[in-house]
Amino acid sequence: MKLCMVGTGYVGLVSGACFAETGNQVVCADIDEKKIERLRAGEVPIFEPGLEEVIERNVAGGRLSFSSDVAAAIAASEVVFVAVGTPSRSDGGADLSAVDKVAETVAESVEREMVLVLKSTVPVGTNTRVRRIVAGAPHPVHVVSNPEFLKEGDAVNDFLRPDRIVLGCDEDGPARDVMGRLYHPVCLDRDRIVWMDPVSAELTKYVANTMLAMRISFMNEIAALCEKVGADVHSVRHGVGSDQRIGSKFLYAGPGYGGSCFPKDVRALVNTGREAGVELELAATTDRVNDRQKGVIARKLKQHFDGDLRGKRVAIWGIAFKPRTDDIRESATLTLIDTLLSEGAQVVAHDPEAMDEARPRYGDRVTFVDDAYDAAMGADALVLMTEWRQYQNPNFDQLAAAMHRKLIVDG
Ligand code: NAD
Repeated sequence: MKLCMVGTGYVGLVSGACFAETGNQVVCADIDEKKIERLRAGEVPIFEPGLEEVIERNVAGGRLSFSSDVAAAIAASEVVFVAVGTPSRSDGGADLSAVDKVAETVAESVEREMVLVLKSTVPVGTNTRVRRIVAGAPHPVHVVSNPEFLKEGDAVNDFLRPDRIVLGCDEDGPARDVMGRLYHPVCLDRDRIVWMDPVSAELTKYVANTMLAMRISFMNEIAALCEKVGADVHSVRHGVGSDQRIGSKFLYAGPGYGGSCFPKDVRALVNTGREAGVELELAATTDRVNDRQKGVIARKLKQHFDGDLRGKRVAIWGIAFKPRTDDIRESATLTLIDTLLSEGAQVVAHDPEAMDEARPRYGDRVTFVDDAYDAAMGADALVLMTEWRQYQNPNFDQLAAAMHRKLIVDG
């Protein structure tokens, strides 16, 4: 099928490349001309394990290309996916301006009957809103909601072997047929498609992310309680997670969840509830608990140094919001660095993949080092923020020799 992926970020690039991998003719289109130039030059602008190989193979096979002419790419396609960003507005709701813009471009550029698929995370009512925008197009445009559940760090695998594919579609017609065919290659062993109406599909994405975030916030509160009463949160997690009704995933305490999805999606769900007159108290508290948790490491350091961080040299291992990605959006490390700098500490940071993302934000206010052990040289404390595998079994003798004080805070 001829397919256009509008928005070539973490979701669009992975999805576009994987749809090419399953035999479709895909154009990844984006208004960011620099990004498109880099992709055309064979560079992959994000770090995502396995993605580079999929892109290389499909570009070489003539199935995958890149364009900054979004209108032309849309006009040439039978199926258009919307994978643009939907960041938080100041009231917590989702900013849909990029989605609207793509829908307007579709309405102006469409040259045949087509299927328009909303893959971006969008609030309840967006399918209807987009349908209104494309209603005046010269050819029928069928609008389907298809929220994405891939995890950064394992996105290619998630796309090709998904737990489920949620499709929100009101009509029994060409859209269902097209979506069924597109996802058929990843449903060979079992049908993974969960069909529903568009409103339910839109809500499913927010509910899934909020429920995962809620588990993390709950365990972060329990970790604080464990510290006070002398329990070990890892033992508690193990004991609790072995109950099959609960399950072991997303029960790890840490320095607060980050990323481009959980914080914004929890807030957006709270906002949807508010607009609908339903107070979603658990979701709202999940967000508040996480905000507080993002200050936990700085509070521990401050307490250790009798309230004075001035001149203290703090080494940080891990800037990305989780391992196996270079994505630093809303990472707890950023909150920590901001606090340390405002308290007069010196920060030396290392991350295997995310330093290029962090450099523009801090310039020379933070020292970035290529070798993790160089960060520890003369440090008063070492903080482990992102659980990259390479940090998991460090050479403690080397650290002890390098550090000024032997203090490690494990987030
Ligand atoms: P991103 O910021 O990495 O990428 C968005 C891309 O859209 C950018 O390259 C931007 O230049 C482009 N864009 C913006 N406006 C455009 C326009 N009018 N026309 C063409 N391109 C345009 O974002 P992302 O992380 O890929 O997320 C995209 C959507 O998917 C969001 O709604 C997000 O919530 C959702 N989502 C993200 C993840 C994830 O792990 N990142 C997972 C599931 C769902």
